[in-house]
Amino acid sequence: MINNNHVTTLEIDLKAVEFNLNYFKSKLKDTTDIMVVVKAFGYGSDAIEIAKSIEQHVSYFAVAYAMEGIALRNAGIKTSILVLHPQADNLESLIVNDLEPSLYNKHVFSSFLKLTRENKLKNYPIHLKFNTGLNRLGFSINDLPYLHKELELNQTIFIQSLFSHLAASEDKNEIEFTKNQIEKFNNITTQFKLIFGFVPTRHLCNTSGIINYPEAHFDLVRLGIGVYGFANDVSETNNLKNVISLKTVITQIHEIEPGESVGYNRSFSASNKMKTATVAIGHADGLSRRLGNGKVCVKINNQRAPIVGNICMDMMMVDITNINCKPGDDVIIFDNQQSVEFLAKQSDTISYELLTAISQRVRRVVIS
Ligand SMILES: *Cc1c(COP(=O)(O)O)cnc(C)c1O
Repeated sequence: MINNNHVTTLEIDLKAVEFNLNYFKSKLKDTTDIMVVVKAFGYGSDAIEIAKSIEQHVSYFAVAYAMEGIALRNAGIKTSILVLHPQADNLESLIVNDLEPSLYNKHVFSSFLKLTRENKLKNYPIHLKFNTGLNRLGFSINDLPYLHKELELNQTIFIQSLFSHLAASEDKNEIEFTKNQIEKFNNITTQFKLIFGFVPTRHLCNTSGIINYPEAHFDLVRLGIGVYGFANDVSETNNLKNVISLKTVITQIHEIEPGESVGYNRSFSASNKMKTATVAIGHADGLSRRLGNGKVCVKINNQRAPIVGNICMDMMMVDITNINCKPGDDVIIFDNQQSVEFLAKQSDTISYELLTAISQRVRRVVIS
């Protein structure tokens, strides 16, 4: 958003990003590179600022959709970019912007090959995705002969990598399943080598895979939520620095008499005399309406203020009966990983959804 002067801000600590990146690097062998996943606006933060700040320290970026990669290119990012979920409808935009597609089925594969022939390309880097159990995207091992035949007929592309994605790398109850995915991936590699005569770069692990399955780091890992400070595991998250903080301000204070209600649909009624503050964040900023009616607190002058009544679209009310504060004072929605995890839990979701839901109306402020 251009010239955003919203008082509600998302602070992004770039030093913490670098710290977290180095933490994960320290877990890797020298021969394993890092791809940082900056899809969905950098997990709701600011993909461009994040990418610019670490570009020199990573070998790849990944995004989900073409438009996300185009935004990085338009911002001057030169590093290789893998597009994880390209669509047959806009493959041309990948070539124009020097973005590397994940090719995951025959439809998108043959559409892309056709384009590379039409554009008379040579050795355009592509990434072959295989399904090893997530059942979301990917070729099967049985597609290898088809892929080989197509590649023999077309010198227009170059297989930059083989990859797959783990379904439950954070889940200690699914170790057997995950080990089976790793084994399937290894079998695909063996089979690939037999048919093609070489083995491209291989990658399988997301953040939790990096932590829990060092034997599956291969040549490259795809680090997403970890770089933003979350590891899907309390003790590992404690080793990371917080990157993202959400803040707003008090806009008005009300004295509420017993029996009065606060907010839409009168879901809250005061039983005692109390004081509320109206603050400048609502569900349109990405704060779930499920967090209203006392489910969580915000912090004002280092004291906890519970949300009162329903969260409105653009603002909400909090209980400040025992807090000394005035209009214009800061209100912290979250400024550490524990509070994000708590907000996520109280709204029946995970940190990933909570972060990516923070809307584009919230002003991004970079701290470096
Ligand atoms: C989003 C994504 C990642 C990153 O996952 P994290 O759990 O955030 O580290 C890696 N690989 C693929 C294919 C993804 O879609």
